[in-house]
Parts: sequence; structure tokens; C-alpha cells
Amino acid sequence: MFDQIIETLHQRGFRMTPQRLLVLQILQDAGRHLTPQEIFGQTQRILPAMTEATVYRTLSFLTEQGFILAAHIGNGQLVYEIAGHNHHHLICRACGATQQIDHQFLESLYQQFRSKTGYQIDSLHVTFFGLCPDCQKN
Ligand SMILES: [Zn+2]
Ligand SMILES: [Zn+2]
Repeated sequence: MFDQIIETLHQRGFRMTPQRLLVLQILQDAGRHLTPQEIFGQTQRILPAMTEATVYRTLSFLTEQGFILAAHIGNGQLVYEIAGHNHHHLICRACGATQQIDHQFLESLYQQFRSKTGYQIDSLHVTFFGLCPDCQKN
């Protein structure tokens, strides 16, 4: 299931460890964003010897390697999910509702950034804050 990731790790000179595999598995199975605490809660049941610090280290390693995505959700906390489809998030400041938007909506904006500034933007998991349609009515 994670053959491609294992192979990519090897090519970069890293090993797939049971800890890394477990975190990937948990995120894959969740199919949604998880906080590090939620992930730690699950690793505790399967690999009790894995410390919370190791969970954090594993998450930042897998993020650096591009296998998982981190997102800010506005309360200073990062959440994680398995990388795969390029998307961004809308979060309502008032009620906390969230919605995903496909990256294609921002593609032309990124191209404009590039032609204006020369930057190649690689932020593929951006959170936008605003008011959802329901909260605008109130
Ligand atoms: Zn996301
Ligand atoms: Zn709202």
C-alpha cells in the first residue's frame, strides 16, 4: 500500500520504520485531518512504546518528505492528513464550518504570483478564513 513511499524513502537514503508506517496508516485510514493528539491516541493502542515526542518528530519528518500535509486550522494547532489530492480549506470564523476547495481554483492565481514575483508557490494546503453563507445571514 505504501510501496511507493517506501521506495521514495530508500532513494532518499531513509528507512521506513514501524513508527512512520503506523502514522501513515492511521492518516490513511482516517481519511480526514487529525491532530497530533488524535494520532498519538491511536499509536498508544498499537505501539504503546511510541512517545508523543516521536509522534511529533514522525509527523514533521513525513511532512518534510511530502507524504503528508499539515494545515493550520486557526487555533494555533496544526492538523495532518495524507498527501494525495491538492486542495485548500475554507474555515468559517464564526461557526468553524470547513470546506475543501480544489487546487484548480487557485492555479491561475499561482501563475500570476509567479509572473509578477518570480516565485514558484508550492503551498498546496492553504487555509482561508471568512464567514460561511449561513453566518453571513445572521
Ligand atoms: Zn486538507
Ligand atoms: Zn459559519
